[in-house]
Amino acid sequence: MLHTYKADYLVVGAGASGMAFVDTLVTESDKTVIIVDKDDKPGGHWNHAYSFVTLHQPSSFYGVSSKELSRGVKDKVGLNKGLNELASGAEVLAYYDELMREYFLPSGRVHYFPKCEYLGDGLIRSILTGQTFTVEVNKTVDSTYYKTSIPATHTPGFPVDDSVHFMPPNTLPKLQQVIQNVTIIGGGKTGIDTCLWLLERGVPADNIRWIMPRDAWLLDRKNTQPTKEFFGDTIGAQAAQMEEIANSCSIEDMFLKLEQCGYFLRLDESVLPKMFHGATMSKLEVEALRSIKQVVRLGRVSSVEETKIVLEQGEIPLMDNEIVVDCTASAITNLDICQVFNENVITLQTVRSYQPVFSASFIAHIELTYDDIKKKNNLCRVVPLPNHDYEWVELTYRNMMNQFFWSKEPGLKKWLQNNRLDGFMAMVAGVKFYEFENLKILNRMRKAAKPAIAKLKEYKAQLENESKEY
Ligand SMILES: Cc1cc2nc3c(=O)[nH]c(=O)nc-3n(C[C@H](O)[C@H](O)[C@H](O)COP(=O)(O)OP(=O)(O)OC[C@H]3O[C@@H](n4cnc5c(N)ncnc54)[C@H](O)[C@@H]3O)c2cc1C
Repeated sequence: MLHTYKADYLVVGAGASGMAFVDTLVTESDKTVIIVDKDDKPGGHWNHAYSFVTLHQPSSFYGVSSKELSRGVKDKVGLNKGLNELASGAEVLAYYDELMREYFLPSGRVHYFPKCEYLGDGLIRSILTGQTFTVEVNKTVDSTYYKTSIPATHTPGFPVDDSVHFMPPNTLPKLQQVIQNVTIIGGGKTGIDTCLWLLERGVPADNIRWIMPRDAWLLDRKNTQPTKEFFGDTIGAQAAQMEEIANSCSIEDMFLKLEQCGYFLRLDESVLPKMFHGATMSKLEVEALRSIKQVVRLGRVSSVEETKIVLEQGEIPLMDNEIVVDCTASAITNLDICQVFNENVITLQTVRSYQPVFSASFIAHIELTYDDIKKKNNLCRVVPLPNHDYEWVELTYRNMMNQFFWSKEPGLKKWLQNNRLDGFMAMVAGVKFYEFENLKILNRMRKAAKPAIAKLKEYKAQLENESKEY
């Protein structure tokens, strides 16, 4: 007979999303929770990240709502200089470990099963002992839906000859040899981090070759600073974004206008990006990356052979002892969306653009506050994670509409202002009647919101028609 544990909720996954959900549940109710995770420590993919990984958004609105992650300082040196600090992977992991040991477990309402796999239908198996047990819960929360993938644990989608020095970025800091020539495969955030790490460690830009199948639109980190001194940048960028959407005459024109107003950045101004993953960069980082001149734009890699790399549109030679770094793991491997609330299952997804942890906390709050499943789903419409540049249209439209629906809901505004994962609501609510410049920005935002939504709706219809034609 299998042992059975009982609780109100089973949360599958102790990653950032699962932890943010449980935190709000424990803080705002007396519910009981079972957390199960295959990893030995909470933090999900951060457990396997490369040692030089950091957040790309300020620490002050990452983690869980009840516990501060930021030390409230701005970086004084480095490529994030002048901006609010970014927690390292090690800091993120220590934070979640403390949260589990000092808050969740002592609450007496959280039962945590590390190194255990959820097999479905209430069945859990310990990875180390092989023993199975069951859980009896009212609801299951799936925080694994996005299927996050990272370089250390993914398998590249192309064959690699055994003779090549091929490695994930995790291996680079452990190397004890001179790096003569290095090729980075992948133009996403991991590729960016790896190039920056090499440059910061003094590897000459001329020795770095960067395979970039697609260029990306990037967000300027200065516009994501949740402290008052950056009001003009952060909220100003929101106002400019809405104005430029409204003023644009085509999707391409919109992207270019958004770049001109400082909302978007790109690495090479002569290449029109086709990708958007929400990567957030400082201008100093962008400048440093521009020093790498050997950028290979020949599509995706098909194979890495003993003497060459074969790509979709050509091939490039490999030097003797050249190091090839695999940065092709795409953080999110499942981009489909589904309804958040079903009868007994809650599937965590983003309900605000690029904000998985805020979204998980928000979903927990809605779960606790409302009974009607239709109402819950209406308040938690998924804002899909983007891949292609044009998907920014759908994402921004849904994001703005959610904001609009939430503003109509009594009590939600106050909750948002008090949730540290929100980042910006408190800043907006804190504007005083004599802060004329800030009031002007808010006014610009109010004025541009409706025309921007109308324009996004037009672009959405256009994209839907185009996709029907293919
Ligand atoms: C390098 C990097 C930097 C990032 N920086 C930021 C940032 O600055 N800001 C931001 O908002 N987002 C950032 N992100 C996005 C990131 O994906 C999220 O912030 C978040 O960490 C994702 O957490 P998660 O809980 O959704 O998923 P995961 O971290 O993947 O957690 C899922 C967990 O579920 C467990 N699991 C899966 N299946 C099972 C099963 N069957 N049984 C038991 N356990 C299971 C896994 O072991 C894992 O621990 C970054 C992502 C990466 C890769």
